[in-house]
Amino acid sequence: MTNEVWWRIGFFLSILVIMMLIEWWMPARKAPIKSSKRWFANFGLVLASSIVTRLAVPIGLTAVALYNQQHGIGLFNIINLPSIVVIVLSLLLLDIVIYWQHRLFHRVPILWRLHKVHHADAHVDASTGLRFHPIEIVLSILVKLVAVSLLGVPAIAVLIFEIALNGLAMFNHANIRLPPAVEKPLRLILMTQILHRIHHSQRVSETNSNYGFSVIWWDWIFGSYKSEAKKSDSELDIGLKEYPSAKQNASLLLAMPFRNK
Ligand SMILES: [Zn+2]
Repeated sequence: MTNEVWWRIGFFLSILVIMMLIEWWMPARKAPIKSSKRWFANFGLVLASSIVTRLAVPIGLTAVALYNQQHGIGLFNIINLPSIVVIVLSLLLLDIVIYWQHRLFHRVPILWRLHKVHHADAHVDASTGLRFHPIEIVLSILVKLVAVSLLGVPAIAVLIFEIALNGLAMFNHANIRLPPAVEKPLRLILMTQILHRIHHSQRVSETNSNYGFSVIWWDWIFGSYKSEAKKSDSELDIGLKEYPSAKQNASLLLAMPFRNK
């Protein structure tokens, strides 16, 4: 746990670099505007969000989980189950919480104002998987804080979950198209790039589907799974019609939820 930050940064940078290399080597779709322009806006927002989040929530989720473990707070710290069972259950339950949080951010208009910053990207690549408004990130941390404390999630499960969620978000937003022989079986477990691009479609019925960030099962169980869009993966219209991507930069993205257009 003492090396937590390094584990997180290590995984984050490795997965980001691997995804960007594959995107560069064999991109699935052609970017509608210059990538450098989008990356400047997206990574600028990532930087701003990291600073705001640090200031708004100065304690880490794993520190809270450790405190709960030491003080017998939360379900798994009261009942006696083998640690492997607790870890697996924790990962699955936290993932269901994040699935429903995502649905709520689409359903509730004031939350959509925040989440649309993510969807206003006219192209989807690994950097999109990191592009979230700082208030959405802070709210998400608070949701996880409550879930971790009620469930008594162990610190190690929190760390695994955070690394996996971050890595899988970069994976399923990556501008790559896995060969069918790999993609089809993978669909039975994970949210793949083709499936997640449907979630970034401009069509409302398509954007309100495939909410999962990691495993696909919650979309099956809760009825939001869509296996294909009206248009093909290479012709799909991505982003939000009302936001021409050319005008986006980090400060506009920060202000987006508070503006009317
Ligand atoms: Zn979404």
